[in-house]
Amino acid sequence: MSDYYKPHRKPDWNYGGPNWKLSRSKIDLFLECQRCFYVDNKLGVARPPGFPFNLNSAVDKLLKKEFDAYRAEKTAHPLMKEYGIDAVPFQHPRMEEWRDSLRAGVSIRHKPTGMLVRGGVDDVWVYPNGELIVVDYKATSKDGEVSLDAEWQDGYKRQMETYQWLFRQNDFKVSDTGYFVYVNGKTDRAAFDAKLEFDVSIIPYKGNDDWVEPTLHDIKKCLDSAALPTPDPLCDYCNYRKAAAEVSSAAIKKPPEEQKPAVRKSKPLEAGGTVSLF
Ligand code: SF4
Repeated sequence: MSDYYKPHRKPDWNYGGPNWKLSRSKIDLFLECQRCFYVDNKLGVARPPGFPFNLNSAVDKLLKKEFDAYRAEKTAHPLMKEYGIDAVPFQHPRMEEWRDSLRAGVSIRHKPTGMLVRGGVDDVWVYPNGELIVVDYKATSKDGEVSLDAEWQDGYKRQMETYQWLFRQNDFKVSDTGYFVYVNGKTDRAAFDAKLEFDVSIIPYKGNDDWVEPTLHDIKKCLDSAALPTPDPLCDYCNYRKAAAEVSSAAIKKPPEEQKPAVRKSKPLEAGGTVSLF
């Protein structure tokens, strides 16, 4: 087991415990698969995390620094001018808290369900009339223009809409249109030369947060139920888990004498080696 993954979370952090919170990513997990969501939030076993995207984090950090310089001056970033966006980066004493997705974020206690909902934003801009604009930074490297057209990018749109909903719940006036600051690493250079260059573009997205409220009620209903939601029959991971559990339990039931030759047959053990069921 790695240092980064402990399969069984302490109950305090599960649904019903004092530390449980519904993050933006957990809402997305619910929409992806209610069973995985339930096993994570109610039963306390989350999916293993992926490897950290260090290059994406570096891009996020540098973009934040860059926009912060204009925030301090209360002026628009040249990109905002280039795209005709009449706004400036928003100055607010809670900006760093809103950006801290792990410890704080933009949060609200949703009264009808009692759940604490939160999410960490990348940036917020503001129009002269005081209306806020939710901004998200994205990094990729692909040929051609970046867009939001792929099906897998629906999660990006829901992310934006969740933040818009959270700010509205915090009594801010929020524009339906948010922006993705999208950087695209160029691979058409002659050599790496110890630097990666990016094209930067701003993509507008008109959000609609109407789905958030009913989804929160569905989440509460799911978590309050004693029934484990059904798995997606097309999910490769669940089919793998089921198949692995079947063959493992069959192997465990065999008497030890029967198990040994089977292991030796498929892979001879080296001196001092161990055998794992998976
Ligand atoms: S079908 Fe199974 S493994 Fe797949 S997402 Fe749902 S619970 Fe998780």
